[in-house]
Amino acid sequence: MLTCDTYHMPTNLRDALEIWSGAPEGSSLISGATDILPWAREGRAGDVHIPSFVDVTKIKELDGHTVANGRVRLGANTVYQDFLTDASLRHLLPCMPYCAIWFADDQIREQATFAGNLANASPVADGTPPAAALNASLELARLDGGNIKTRQLTVSDFIVGPGRTLLQPDEIITAVSLDAVAGYGGSFQKVGQRRSLVISVACCAALVKADSTGRYFDDLRLALGGVGPRPMRLTAIEARLRGERISHRTIDQAAKLAADEVASRSRQEYRRDVVIGFVKSALEEALENQPDIDVTYEDLGETENA
Ligand SMILES: Cc1cc2nc3c(=O)[nH]c(=O)nc-3n(C[C@H](O)[C@H](O)[C@H](O)COP(=O)(O)OP(=O)(O)OC[C@H]3O[C@@H](n4cnc5c(N)ncnc54)[C@H](O)[C@@H]3O)c2cc1C
Repeated sequence: MLTCDTYHMPTNLRDALEIWSGAPEGSSLISGATDILPWAREGRAGDVHIPSFVDVTKIKELDGHTVANGRVRLGANTVYQDFLTDASLRHLLPCMPYCAIWFADDQIREQATFAGNLANASPVADGTPPAAALNASLELARLDGGNIKTRQLTVSDFIVGPGRTLLQPDEIITAVSLDAVAGYGGSFQKVGQRRSLVISVACCAALVKADSTGRYFDDLRLALGGVGPRPMRLTAIEARLRGERISHRTIDQAAKLAADEVASRSRQEYRRDVVIGFVKSALEEALENQPDIDVTYEDLGETENA
């Protein structure tokens, strides 16, 4: 059973930081509570008593998003469903709808925050490859001598290992900022133990921009999750493909190179095969989703006929 002494629902950041920094040891900060509740309620942790819950979902400063200087600043209360329903987010962050559609189910998507998914720092969290591909940084706030102090950490600095981050005990994530990449085609691939409501064994995010002729890779971003302790950006493969003629052959070669990045201790062979398939499918799907440009493959049909 899960019990608590106090359940706080502050409505502004200052109140939340005051309550959180003064909360008794063992207290819990929650947003959608989709990670915390199943863990406690299903008895996996036995009977759990939390002195204070601090629920951040009513804090107005954590709502909505803004766009400036080529970056989208998502308030920490942004939930996965927003990536499907908000036209502006779909346009600016083209891999996120593909990530969200595979994320949990309708109910959980309405509750689960992108920020909470990153804070949980699971090696198989679906949000971490898109975050890496979109150069995400987290904005963290704390009270310092009565003043609100903020700092920014890139997602690659923030997540230090499975379930471990640099979030300090008195800090609250206020926002996640990402590159705005309107005009790119997006894709997200994931595989798990079963088809629905699945936690990934591995996942892959891709963003691709073809040049104006639709024949060459202009820019691309690729990142993997579930193949090592932290999300992994495939920068060497990105550099290799940039400026290359788009072809099935080039994509196949890049996909094979990606398999060498698999660092997980378990099911390595399986994960290598999955990664090859993922990178290939992610690049092809992202090219297919490229808005306003008709992409042509140099070796059109060659792979299918091989
Ligand atoms: C049925 C089910 C299916 C799921 N499917 C998937 C899936 O397909 N893919 C996937 O990746 N995950 C999945 N999850 C896991 C979960 O939904 C995500 O990890 C979720 O995004 C966490 O966000 P939350 O808002 O619910 O966080 P919470 O559970 O509230 O918190 C999670 C952690 O983040 C911290 N936190 C939250 N907000 C803040 C903040 N503003 N500042 C500081 N710390 C904060 C909390 O303290 C806690 O440590 C699933 C969960 C369930 C129950």
